[in-house]
Amino acid sequence: MTVELYALPLGTCQCRFQTPTGRTIHADLPVSGYLLRLSDDKLALIDTGMNRLHVDDPDLTWRDTPRAGQLRALMSPEDSLLYRLAQLDVGPADIDYVINTHLHFDHAGNNDLLGSATFFVQRDQYVHALDNPRYPSQYWNLPALKYELVDGESELFDAVRVIPTPGHAPGHQSVEVTLPEGGSMIICGDAVVQADDYRLDDWSHQEDPVLARQSALHLRDLATESASTVFYGHDPEQLATMKWSPESAYR
Ligand SMILES: [Zn+2]
Repeated sequence: MTVELYALPLGTCQCRFQTPTGRTIHADLPVSGYLLRLSDDKLALIDTGMNRLHVDDPDLTWRDTPRAGQLRALMSPEDSLLYRLAQLDVGPADIDYVINTHLHFDHAGNNDLLGSATFFVQRDQYVHALDNPRYPSQYWNLPALKYELVDGESELFDAVRVIPTPGHAPGHQSVEVTLPEGGSMIICGDAVVQADDYRLDDWSHQEDPVLARQSALHLRDLATESASTVFYGHDPEQLATMKWSPESAYR
């Protein structure tokens, strides 16, 4: 059984681009990761945020690429994963497992720090991301890192289940966590970027909008069935309603 879940604030991704349908995306999106303390005292991370070197250089990842200026990582020193873990008295070598919802730079940016961990990624995502410039490999595709590739839905640990939610990217996965006090949480990753995606029923910002819509509706059904709290990928309006590390945790 999972004992605690800490939501870690990991900076802001500044987005400035147009979707293929002409919708202008002009948003400063919060980036987060989650630390789970499991009942056997093992530690698991869900997503690792943007690389800590962006604190000094917001354009580090996308400078001189077609996405230059479209995606910028705005981070204070406190937004580095290392800092957020240290606030909980956790070092990178203490992390036993990492679940990446997918391998985009804002979800796998600090995988390079976590050489003691086993990483769980859907096989379809891993294969898609290899040698793909949209998935900067310097952060995650390193010989020292141990990846365990997952095919479909799987209960990785007691009370922690991954659910395939493709559409944002092939092999994207979301995570359902059941907490001891009876609550359950669904961490969407970018299957649902913000609550507005449902309200507008607009999935045009996703790589495969049809598939993304199916995945998002599936998550909504699951959340209704299990009365889960849902954490969207990057929802500025949800920020104020969440409990954040280190002050508080979900139990
Ligand atoms: Zn994202």
